[in-house]
Amino acid sequence: MTAKLIKGTEVRDEILVELKDEVDKIKNEHGVVPGLVTILVGENPASISYVTSKIKTAQSLGFKEVQDNQPDDISEQDLLGLVDKYNKDDSIHGILVQLPLPKHIDDKKILNAIDPDKDVDGFHPVNVGRLMIGGDEAKFLPCTPAGIQELIVRSGVETEGAEVVVVGRSNIVGKPIANIMLQKGPGANSTVTIAHTRTKDLAFHCKRADILIVAAGVPDLVKPEWIKPGACVIDVGVNRVGEKISEKTGKKIAILKGDVDFEKAKEIAGYITPVPGGVGPMTITMLMKNTLKSLKFHLGIE
Ligand code: NAD
Repeated sequence: MTAKLIKGTEVRDEILVELKDEVDKIKNEHGVVPGLVTILVGENPASISYVTSKIKTAQSLGFKEVQDNQPDDISEQDLLGLVDKYNKDDSIHGILVQLPLPKHIDDKKILNAIDPDKDVDGFHPVNVGRLMIGGDEAKFLPCTPAGIQELIVRSGVETEGAEVVVVGRSNIVGKPIANIMLQKGPGANSTVTIAHTRTKDLAFHCKRADILIVAAGVPDLVKPEWIKPGACVIDVGVNRVGEKISEKTGKKIAILKGDVDFEKAKEIAGYITPVPGGVGPMTITMLMKNTLKSLKFHLGIE
């Protein structure tokens, strides 16, 4: 059996077209566009690259994009003041503070200062609580887990009553995706198990999964023989296992591997995400979706 490849890049492009249509419609009907501010402190190259991708995507959708770059030595107080300024700015619907922050700043304090109604990353304790309650209460789903759900649903995989096994219990992937899949409603209604480092028999749990979501950060952790034939396998792991020279640019690039032995697993699974090109492209897309959603809440049309 050869699994159907779930291509994150294709799903991303499909969603971006939908978002652009919606942004244009709202602009025509209400005369406003979603506003996103990206606050970047310092000059960490990886952070600059992430923020640049976010800015480019926001601009391509016609968002108002405010890029607020601050020096490494900005005080915690000044950064809190900046967050407060954007909390009060009606043209801004999403506030994103790029992590990591310099050591002298308590990142928890900064993230918790963001107005939960502008917390498009979905990590504020209020939004974590809203997701736990579910239904109409859930406002912003964290971006990577929300992207995972989109990949599953848009691939036509049945989630209702499905045995979902999540490997990993982090606050940014494992716990929220488990929470999303057990919600009452379409695209969820699953029976969920969360496995982690203290789980006694990981193979046993993986073998039961109709939908196996792996977010451990351990290359090839999941063996092909742990996969139920026909299962949907979502590999969230991104592991740098070496370097190679890019054929396109001639520059050194990282060799990336997921948490699942992809080559063998694809012969057993029904659906599978590749690494890279699976879950990865979905995160920024869902950030855009959340920012648009925030504007819709603001306008009272969501
Ligand atoms: P994390 O280190 O915070 O959490 C990993 C979890 O996996 C832990 O809860 C741990 O208990 C569990 N785990 C680790 N080893 C295990 C083992 N041997 N058996 C069972 N459980 C084990 O990591 P994270 O932030 O959740 O990220 C997980 C992976 O997903 C990483 O590779 C990360 O790079 C990737 N990731 C990708 C995206 C994306 O594609 N957009 C986003 C976030 C994270």
